[in-house]
Amino acid sequence: MPADAPPESNVVSLAKAREERSPHLSGEARCLQCGHEWAAVSPVGTTVLECPSCRLPKGVFRGLVTPNSPTIWICHCKCDTFWLTPQGAFCQLCGDVQNWP
Ligand SMILES: [Zn+2]
Ligand SMILES: [Zn+2]
Repeated sequence: MPADAPPESNVVSLAKAREERSPHLSGEARCLQCGHEWAAVSPVGTTVLECPSCRLPKGVFRGLVTPNSPTIWICHCKCDTFWLTPQGAFCQLCGDVQNWP
């Protein structure tokens, strides 16, 4: 860094300021890998969050949209988040394709 460069604290990042003005979501998040739960904030449209505990990109928001049902499907591994595929519901944590009665 040149000697006459301003100290880093005086530098305004336009990209960072723009990002801070964009719409954000906040809420309870859970890591599908390690189970860590935390209060997350991210720009609207973010579907995967970095877990602050294990650092893997396996965090998801919880409770943004929930089914109006007294019961939900839960995998034997305790995960309740699935990808729907032509073969069935694919657990996002253990990868099992679900077979329900
Ligand atoms: Zn984690
Ligand atoms: Zn599973």
